[in-house]
Amino acid sequence: MHLNKVSLEARHISLSYGSTEVLRDVNLRIEPGEFFALLGPSGSGKSTLLRLIAGFNQHQRGELLVDGQDITGTPPHARNVGMVFQNYALWPHMTVWDNVAFGLVERRETKEAIRRKVGAVLELVGLADYAQRRPGQLSGGQQQRVALARTVVIEPKLLLLDEPLSNLDKQLRVQMREELKNLQRKLGLTTIFVTHDQEEAMTTADRMAVLDKGILQQVGAATGLYDFPVNRFVAGFVGTAN
Ligand code: ADP
Ligand code: MG
Repeated sequence: MHLNKVSLEARHISLSYGSTEVLRDVNLRIEPGEFFALLGPSGSGKSTLLRLIAGFNQHQRGELLVDGQDITGTPPHARNVGMVFQNYALWPHMTVWDNVAFGLVERRETKEAIRRKVGAVLELVGLADYAQRRPGQLSGGQQQRVALARTVVIEPKLLLLDEPLSNLDKQLRVQMREELKNLQRKLGLTTIFVTHDQEEAMTTADRMAVLDKGILQQVGAATGLYDFPVNRFVAGFVGTAN
């Protein structure tokens, strides 16, 4: 796989729905290959920011740059961003192999390229032996791995994860955290991991940002935010053992 590592920069991004300001003057720089967590309570604007990066939401003010190039006007399909959601709907009637191959078939890649890429990705997520199963025959964790495989197989520039583990039970969530971290390390793909779970953010991310009411409260390494919160909100949200 040929994954390039890109930087992502948000400059003075603001977004409103009608008179409701959902993101307010968001400034952020994510380094190439970084595993970055976006942490905040429900309704703080995490998904809105992620969808904006993917191109599904349009902001009213500010710029979004990938490797220094403004992508504000670039449509979603041309951004080459991979996104995984909480409800990672797989095609139930298709095998694991076909689910993962789907995006490549759509792109009309050659049979040989598809065979090679799908094989490599299934190997990577530890599902090589499950290629001919259907999603219904897999555990929740395995299904989540298929969803990840399906997303990274298209060789995206950015990997965007919107609370991908929140549907799993606690034990599996902890295990999948590790898997996610390992996969990201292997791929070296610039990754933004959205979560409302501070422990999840602390244990996976190189750096993280805390968002509240559409305003970035603090950005830094997990330990920095934990030890030196800039305000009461960060102290309460990052410091509380849930
Ligand atoms: P989070 O992902 O952190 O839970 P969201 O980004 O989904 O938060 O939502 C942030 C705020 O924006 C919420 O108050 C939500 O109600 C509002 N919002 C999100 N999408 C829309 C929309 N399409 N129209 C109007 N308001 C929206
Ligand atoms: Mg959300």
